[in-house]
Amino acid sequence: MTFEDLKLIPSVLKALKDENYTEPTAIQAQAIPLVLNHEDVLGSAQTGTGKTAAFAIPIIQHLVNDRQSSKGKRSISTLVVTPTRELALQIGESFSTYGKYTNVKNTVIFGGVNQTSQIKALRQGVDVLVATPGRLLDLMNQGYISLKDIQYFVLDEADRMLDMGFIHDIKKILAKLPKDRQSLFFSATMPQKIVKLSREILRNPKKVAV
Ligand code: AMP
Repeated sequence: MTFEDLKLIPSVLKALKDENYTEPTAIQAQAIPLVLNHEDVLGSAQTGTGKTAAFAIPIIQHLVNDRQSSKGKRSISTLVVTPTRELALQIGESFSTYGKYTNVKNTVIFGGVNQTSQIKALRQGVDVLVATPGRLLDLMNQGYISLKDIQYFVLDEADRMLDMGFIHDIKKILAKLPKDRQSLFFSATMPQKIVKLSREILRNPKKVAV
């Protein structure tokens, strides 16, 4: 299997060539066609499996296609929520890397640092927001972020998120998301609590596991 087989657009294929990726990982081969087909996905995969590209690549492709059919102003249409600053930065970098030949813009927000530069980046307009839960809610409550235009939602490392006590924050974020959206849910483990949370987020999900 090659990335060409997955029907990726030339601008994304070129970026993957630059990274010297020769073939999709197992999670990418399974998830990318489903995401491109607008399915909700319940993914059981750990860090290191290539799961970030498994959601970033098809979302970039959606955004490129969506842009061609709308001339509107840029607004946050993709939200990725992840538990730690380190993961958030890695995910933001992945969107930048795989989307470098597209006009898809991302920014990353997380707690523990001054919010001023994050607000400035948001004001410049982004398509993809990668966030940790606490800072996201903070900036939402201050009116700097609206989730009303979200079409693509990713909950990353859901089990770790629950372990870190983010469940209430997640519920508050979910309450502000449009009902009509595509959602992707990733967790390394699938205990009952996670399955229950996934049911609150996903519609007729396709399961992928590596
Ligand atoms: P992740 O599981 O998303 O944290 O990715 C783990 C590492 O695998 C990252 O450093 C990626 O750059 C790399 N990676 C992702 N997809 C591929 C691929 N298809 N071929 C080679 N490396 C990859």
